[in-house]
Amino acid sequence: MSDESDSTAPKPMKSHGRLAVRPTVAPRELMTNTPDLMGVWKAKIITLFPEAFPGVLGESLTGKALQEGTWQLEQIHLREFGEGKHRNVDDTPAGGGAGMVLRPDVMGRAIDFAMNGTPPNREDWPLVYLSPRGKRFDQATAKRWSKARGITMICGRFEGVDDRVLFHYGIEEVSLGDFVLTGGEIAAQAMIDATVRLLPGVLGNAESIEDESHSNGLLEHPQFTKPAEWRGMPIPEVLMSGHHGKIAEWRQKMSEKITRERRPDMWAAYEAEKSNK
Ligand code: SAH
Repeated sequence: MSDESDSTAPKPMKSHGRLAVRPTVAPRELMTNTPDLMGVWKAKIITLFPEAFPGVLGESLTGKALQEGTWQLEQIHLREFGEGKHRNVDDTPAGGGAGMVLRPDVMGRAIDFAMNGTPPNREDWPLVYLSPRGKRFDQATAKRWSKARGITMICGRFEGVDDRVLFHYGIEEVSLGDFVLTGGEIAAQAMIDATVRLLPGVLGNAESIEDESHSNGLLEHPQFTKPAEWRGMPIPEVLMSGHHGKIAEWRQKMSEKITRERRPDMWAAYEAEKSNK
């Protein structure tokens, strides 16, 4: 990272119990959310649509955990860093062509603001650009991010961001999948959801992380619940037997069968892993 940014250098944090208090370079209006909780995993989102957050993350288990301060969210409104009276954030693509590109000076100011006071090591605080050109997001990435202290995510719009920004900050590009969205916000929410549910205390006993799809290299076995018979179809007998050993065996077998049939790529990796043990 170079020091030629428009903002001042990060200042040391003063601690007041759980609240992290630090001088900021941006106006009060940018401090949108709840006060900073020391040591609590945090997602900082640079976006033109801060009101799109928490979105679905505000519901159910992730929403409850957000309210309880098990994780935190900070929206950083890109518009506030825009140029001139109209706070312009984009301009036409160099070399011509359709659409608009997010300006590097504007995005640079937002990134400097977001990264101010975060750990310098990217393992502790990844800096990510949501992008269809990125490495595809997966469970391993969610696990890695959940072990960090927080993350900064940049949501693109239009044709995306000026490439120099990605180079200058050494930004990790991550894709939600092989399709093109109109903006990074939905991808950010999907990735934060997958990451936050791995944080201690978010799921509680409500769900098990251990044997769900993608956590052990296999897809999950089928699930059933009451009624015992529905439209002529009974629940597989073994699940009603109360025999834990047999149930575990059946689930493992089904897990393997489904993975073999649906995801030959995962199955091959699973078999290779097994033979290495
Ligand atoms: N012109 C770009 C696409 C821009 S789409 C290209 O062809 O690569 C506008 C924004 O939506 C992007 O900047 C990115 O932040 C977001 N986006 C689109 N598809 C995405 C995907 N599959 N994963 C993550 N973010 C995506």
